[in-house]
Amino acid sequence: MTQQYFIRTYGCQMNEHDTERIASLLQDDGMTEATSMEDADVVVLNTCCIRENADNKLYGQLGHLKQMKADKPDLQIAVAGCLAQKDRDEIRDRAGHVDVVFGTHNVHRAVELLEHARTQGPIVEILEAAARDDAEAFPTALPARRESDHAAWVTIQIGCDNNCAFCIVPAVRGPEVSRPMSELVGEVEELAREGITEVTLLGQNVNSYGRDLALAARRAGEDVRIRPMFADLLRSVGNVRGIRRVRYTSPHPKDMGIDVAEAMAEIPAVCEHLHLPLQSGSDRVLALMHRGYNAERYLRVLHEARATIPDLAVTTDIIVGFPGETDDDFERTLEVAAEAEYDSAYTFVFSPRPGTEAADMVDEFCDPEVVKDRYERLRVVIERSGRAKHAARIGRTEEVVIEGPSKRDPNVTTGRTRQNKLVHFAVPEPIKPGSYAEVTITDASMQYLMGELVEVTAAPLRRRRIPVVSA
Ligand code: SF4
Repeated sequence: MTQQYFIRTYGCQMNEHDTERIASLLQDDGMTEATSMEDADVVVLNTCCIRENADNKLYGQLGHLKQMKADKPDLQIAVAGCLAQKDRDEIRDRAGHVDVVFGTHNVHRAVELLEHARTQGPIVEILEAAARDDAEAFPTALPARRESDHAAWVTIQIGCDNNCAFCIVPAVRGPEVSRPMSELVGEVEELAREGITEVTLLGQNVNSYGRDLALAARRAGEDVRIRPMFADLLRSVGNVRGIRRVRYTSPHPKDMGIDVAEAMAEIPAVCEHLHLPLQSGSDRVLALMHRGYNAERYLRVLHEARATIPDLAVTTDIIVGFPGETDDDFERTLEVAAEAEYDSAYTFVFSPRPGTEAADMVDEFCDPEVVKDRYERLRVVIERSGRAKHAARIGRTEEVVIEGPSKRDPNVTTGRTRQNKLVHFAVPEPIKPGSYAEVTITDASMQYLMGELVEVTAAPLRRRRIPVVSA
């Protein structure tokens, strides 16, 4: 009987993309996806240690799986991702029923490691860093089983060379390693041939894309004067025939130059949306966080981008209650947030991530009641600008890509605008996901827009490969 797998993913798009890749490898090995964890022969937990209580959630899940394995001894359990990279042997020390532990640099070894565990017993394999010369160590979109038929993630860079005091990423994803531009453009061309019309370029700090490539080439004795720049990559990817939308995440305010904004304005396919993490509006807190910019620099980058790119939507991340944040620091954050006039923001209450510098600043932790109050005040400021930005779109006709029927009402369809906003609208008959349509915006809330369908302008292009069966 065909073996079935089930993957539970925690965390960011990078992890979701790794999950696609693991799923693809398991399918190439002859497995099919189980509809529930209970039906699976192999369960993979692709972990994240950035979110709060990540380890509690993991060990809670592993407790449930221990019972499942007692009832079904052949069940294989694998733990992958950032928490596996960080905790290594500790995972099997705390949960001896886990068969395989692998990290962020050897996702491509998932099938071999499961096979090893089947024949030779449990295995923990964590690599310290991605090997630059091992093409397989890089996440490529091509062999992946994608969640979407019209959109794909393309990892342009793994790891991070920064050391933000609150962040565990450099410890678990290693130093920055960029993929060569020709390889990335080739991959996007292949995706376009398959009918993908939207790509999202992924990296921890996309603005430093290519820096390591130039350094590596120089170390190898090559005469490299010009490093590949992210703006060039945006232009090249945005000009690939068939690609109608290019998004990216995340830029870093300390490295973001006007060249990127100019490329965004110049290339029609690059969407008018910038996610520019602020984290704090206080120069003192930004310095404690080691962010490498101050509020003035941040606002300058943002204003330049808005002046360069017509109709730009801007979103951000802000941490409230970083250790040592005073009332005065927080006032600065409110001021910057008000001036930035965000479309929306992911606001987080600081919580310590074990292994980070900020986690050791225990004496400086803020009073939770004070932080709660600050969080609420920030929410009011963000909502004020968000509502105004959305209200300003009423009456406009916008291009959307259809995501599918609304979960609450099947007669309502959801699409996404170029500014990354969800629009709900009624349809006379279902429209296939991946289609493009024009929708007139009729109403707005903080989270989404409502509209009326004008017309469907393009059907999805996805060309599924027809399996070749030998006689
Ligand atoms: S730039 Fe800072 S927050 Fe972003 S991944 Fe690197 S260390 Fe983490």
